[in-house]
Amino acid sequence: MDTRISGKTRLLGVFGTPITHSGSPVMYNFSFDYYGIDGVYLAFDCRESEMKDSLAAMRRLNMWGANVTMPCKQEAARNMDRLSPAAKFIGAVNTIVNDGGILTGHNTDGMGVVLDLKDHGKSVQDQKIVLLGAGGAATAIMVQCALDGAKSVTVFNRGASALEKAEKIGKKMKKEGVSCMLDYCLLSEEELLTETIRQGDILINATSVGMAPMSEGQSLITDMKAFHEELVVYDVIYNPEVTKLMKDAAENGCRKENIIGGKGMLLWQGACAFRLYTGLEMPVRELKEFLAKREKEGTPVLQDIVHEQKEYHEE
Ligand code: NAD
Repeated sequence: MDTRISGKTRLLGVFGTPITHSGSPVMYNFSFDYYGIDGVYLAFDCRESEMKDSLAAMRRLNMWGANVTMPCKQEAARNMDRLSPAAKFIGAVNTIVNDGGILTGHNTDGMGVVLDLKDHGKSVQDQKIVLLGAGGAATAIMVQCALDGAKSVTVFNRGASALEKAEKIGKKMKKEGVSCMLDYCLLSEEELLTETIRQGDILINATSVGMAPMSEGQSLITDMKAFHEELVVYDVIYNPEVTKLMKDAAENGCRKENIIGGKGMLLWQGACAFRLYTGLEMPVRELKEFLAKREKEGTPVLQDIVHEQKEYHEE
């Protein structure tokens, strides 16, 4: 790395807080090394109130681009010169590309799930999707699935206010010609939930339920009749690697190859951002091998991200 830095090296980074355990610098710098790209990626601690200054710094330092994580994603979206369709609907940005001082905000979170499903041979096109949750990750997934041609997305959430926000976004998408059918239901409507999953093609958990250590061993699906052989089950949680939802799905008729955990989402949303920065494909296979090696050596990269999220959620 030190011999690679020159007078022409471009800077990229991630803004958010807490940030010191972020796995992003390892992922991006690995990919820059792989291609011999003259860029370097660092993590910058940034509170929401500091986001505008950080964007000014991006322009001033001619940074190539940046990722944005909690709690700065919405503030970033409010201060972009341009927004991608997904970022505009979601109202949150996790990737910024700097084109000569013009900052364009993208949101690759939902794309992370769509590309990971694709990596597992599954497409969201024409599929009936049941989505658990209406928070940040869920909203991004809802929008991306709708933009990518899902037949329907039925959102189930614990509280009504987040559902109303999701519905507002859905209405905006409809107005702009997105044809996906969107429905919004409360998780307390248990029979409807079971029936919708039984008739659905893909079930996605985008809540924090099931995540270690706070709610490991929990699942929002308590009626095992919901699972069926053709159902794809996707859990955004990556710690533990196999959640209760995934175990229940496997034990109740879903095919093993159709049950997917959230590690790939992390990787693919990064791969999508990498493509936006460089126009190149992130070397995902090599990166996966490298991450597995780090895990074996006892210095896991993704584990660090989990620690960071734990701190955030415990605040
Ligand atoms: P958020 O706080 O915006 O949303 C949390 C969601 O979980 C809300 O819909 C909330 O209603 C729901 N929820 C929480 N506890 C619940 C309970 N007991 N019963 C029912 N619903 C409950 O958070 P977020 O940013 O959307 O993240 C959600 C999860 O997704 C987190 O666990 C996060 O780690 C994970 N995530 C994974 C990736 C990845 O790359 N794999 C990326 C982003 C987020």
